[in-house]
Amino acid sequence: MSGIRPTGFLHLGNYFGAISNYVKMQEDFDCFFMVADLHSLTTHPDTAALKANVHRVLAENIACGLDPDKVAFYCQSHVHETAELYLYLNMMAYKGELEKTTTFKEKVRLNPENVNAGLLTYPVLMATDIILHRAKYVPVGKDQEQHLEMARTFANRFNHRYGDVFPEPLAFNYNQSLLKVPSLDGEGKMSKSENQMATLYLADSDDMIRKKVMKAKTDSGPTEKNAPKPDYIENIFLLMKLVCPAETVGKFEDDYNNCVIRYGDLKKQLAEDMVNFIAPIRSQVDAILQDEEGLKQIMLKGAEKANTSAGETMKLVREAMGLNYF
Ligand code: AMP
Repeated sequence: MSGIRPTGFLHLGNYFGAISNYVKMQEDFDCFFMVADLHSLTTHPDTAALKANVHRVLAENIACGLDPDKVAFYCQSHVHETAELYLYLNMMAYKGELEKTTTFKEKVRLNPENVNAGLLTYPVLMATDIILHRAKYVPVGKDQEQHLEMARTFANRFNHRYGDVFPEPLAFNYNQSLLKVPSLDGEGKMSKSENQMATLYLADSDDMIRKKVMKAKTDSGPTEKNAPKPDYIENIFLLMKLVCPAETVGKFEDDYNNCVIRYGDLKKQLAEDMVNFIAPIRSQVDAILQDEEGLKQIMLKGAEKANTSAGETMKLVREAMGLNYF
């Protein structure tokens, strides 16, 4: 089970940190993927663009290979039992532990005039989404590690207090470790809302991709053979590994180690491979977005599957909690 907030255009971090895993998992597991529209209200209370954003997230996931026939692909707000379980879990989540969450502190810093209770209890809602389907594996990027730890805490706390209902949800990735796709300016990660010129979006035009990659931070190159790479150069190599053939990466690694690397050439190559990667996804997204009726049917089918699963879990929850009076 996993979700993506409809708060803007999806980017390479969403693709490699999340969606590429979804697409593989759909072959191996019973999967639930959702557009986390309720989560987006904690930071984006203006809903004028919500419908367009929800449609875009649906279309972008499908263009990346997610198959709504193989998985439950739904909108969070279409599963009303989410609100019920969230209520119960909120009574088992403590103010102190919520206030310590890194993302909460970060959001308070970025948006001091909108520190709402939903923001504080974001990890509770995320735990709800996961355990509502009694999910075991959660494909997320490295930035979600702490939230997942909290989901385990809440699931265990419920089990301890009311009896075993939930399995412990674990972060899942087909690679060895969770991935953080870095931004092009060497500062932090690619993100939907911050540093947009240093983030590659699946909707970027070919020219925009080239422009962003060519502006990526580099320097005049190493002066000693086999020198360690500074972080911002390491980041560019990481991006190359994601989209360039292994021989291309190997050639530039050798050039770096022999102090003959030309970053202009490297960035041109990276830009072209990035364009080849993103352009087909972009044009497919445009086609899917044209078909509003198709998107509606996808949402309805997804909601039906998610509601069936949520209904089964909530029967167990109410019974375990003693909320069954006849
Ligand atoms: P969000 O964009 O915050 O809704 O996140 C949706 C999913 O994308 C989550 O699983 C995140 O862990 C993942 N994600 C977002 N940004 C990155 C990034 N720069 N690198 C890797 N994964 C990311």
